[in-house]
Amino acid sequence: MLDRLDGGAIVPVPVPELLEASVAAFATRPALNFFGRKWTYGDLGRLVDQVAAGLQAEGVGPGSKVGLCLPNTPYSVIFFFAVMKAGGTVVNFSPLYVERELRHQIRDSGTTMMVVPDLKIIHARVAAVAHEAGLRRIVVCPMAGVLPTVKGILFSLFKRKDHAVFDLGDGLHLPFDRLLAHGATPKSVRIDPVNDIAVLQYTGGTTGVPKGAMLTHANVSANARQVLRHADCERIGVSKVLGVLPLFHVFAMQTVMIIPICLGAEIVLVPRFALGDVLDLIEAEKPTMFPGVPTIYAAINGAPGIERRDLTALTLCISGGAPLPKEVRERFEVLTGCKLVEGYGLSETSPVVSANPPLGLVKDGSVGTALPETMIEIHDLADPQRLCPMGEKGEVCVRGPQVMRGYYNRPLETADAFLNGALRTGDVGYLDADGYLFLVDRIKDVILCGGYNVYPRVIEEALYLHPAVAEAVAIGIPDSYRGQAPKAFVTLREGAQVSPADLMEFLSAQISKIEMPREIEIRDSLPKSVVGKLSKKELVEEERARTPGQ
Ligand code: AMP
Repeated sequence: MLDRLDGGAIVPVPVPELLEASVAAFATRPALNFFGRKWTYGDLGRLVDQVAAGLQAEGVGPGSKVGLCLPNTPYSVIFFFAVMKAGGTVVNFSPLYVERELRHQIRDSGTTMMVVPDLKIIHARVAAVAHEAGLRRIVVCPMAGVLPTVKGILFSLFKRKDHAVFDLGDGLHLPFDRLLAHGATPKSVRIDPVNDIAVLQYTGGTTGVPKGAMLTHANVSANARQVLRHADCERIGVSKVLGVLPLFHVFAMQTVMIIPICLGAEIVLVPRFALGDVLDLIEAEKPTMFPGVPTIYAAINGAPGIERRDLTALTLCISGGAPLPKEVRERFEVLTGCKLVEGYGLSETSPVVSANPPLGLVKDGSVGTALPETMIEIHDLADPQRLCPMGEKGEVCVRGPQVMRGYYNRPLETADAFLNGALRTGDVGYLDADGYLFLVDRIKDVILCGGYNVYPRVIEEALYLHPAVAEAVAIGIPDSYRGQAPKAFVTLREGAQVSPADLMEFLSAQISKIEMPREIEIRDSLPKSVVGKLSKKELVEEERARTPGQ
């Protein structure tokens, strides 16, 4: 099936064609699994068509922006493909966004229709900003409608206070079943894969202001096939995927949804990460693949009684989004017997750029080799026109079919994001003789310390070597003498006890004097992004607020 699409070079195809190929090839196989209730590929194909027809009846077509503000549920997958099949563009929203973030992204993207679950906690925020932000429709999807029968009844009866409250006659709200009433087949829309935007993926990018990366159909469909080829997923035999990462994040969009669909795999959708539940699910459902971020694998490693759990069904785990500490990878591999490989990417590259090949050579500390048809260039930080030779650190720049068209409605930021046609990632790294990429840090996170560049990652990796440390983050704080000085924040493993002074002493044997943090603070928890990556910006803000005049 993939050969049809990928005989030789990766040709641009519309994203819905990837689903259609799997619906044709694997109609009776389970595609989605939500709390044990299943939908086959045939069911999924039919639902996508029906919803696409309904969306078209509501005026969705080429140029329309439809927001998905959903936790992982079958609706996330159905609407993702249906919006595109109707001819529209998907705009991914985090259901955790506060009103200010929702308002900004709705306006900036020109989203006119938003899809939400019938959960008050999400619906109420969207409804509150709808009029002023310019939403014309809110499609409300009943959770009871996708749960197994008994759970659905219990949800309807006992969770009433959690249900969204809205007026069906207000012209704004549209219940999901009404979308299904417009026939089984959408009007066929001609999608130009090279120019039509499949997904607007919001990201802080390198400058911090959230902006929409325009990912074309060709970008998104190419990246799925690049990963499939690079990782040789068909040979590994991925049959069931654990979908814990939120699908509104681009890493999950590919590794939890599109790639498994290309393989005809079953996707076990998990709306919320809760450690105990996820471990139970792995034992009960026996998924073979589990994409995650390092904090998830670290949490599993540290789970009480983890040695008694049976996680042996897993054969492939893919970590991305943030550096995977070696200790975390090694312990996870011992506990599960499964391969945990690290990849690298960003929203602007749909997202995967490189990965360690699961069946090939995995290099410690490396994010692997470039995907097929992808070129990684390292540019001098001081003189960006100069290409760095092998082994020299510089800015990682990328060319390939997965690189975005630009930022939506932002020509200046788009121009800044490219260097002679290659995407500037804002990450510092180097390539070794075998073409393996090693990331050093993000340019904006580098601590400028008395004329030296201190890479927070070096401090963090050294802290992870301490057995009491569960999570570690280092940032630059204002320093009157050196300009900036490093400061580290850690959380400790359950039951572990250690003082900042002990950690300082431990660090002094691991890193150079200039890299030593001025202070180490032990906290109960550290800020995380919506996808679970440790997030520095809140800590940077806190420290700045503490230092008057900065
Ligand atoms: P986002 O666009 O929000 O997914 O963030 C992309 C950024 O995450 C990249 O520019 C990198 O700084 C970082 N990143 C992604 N994967 C890795 C990785 N394996 N190791 C280190 N940093 C990573």
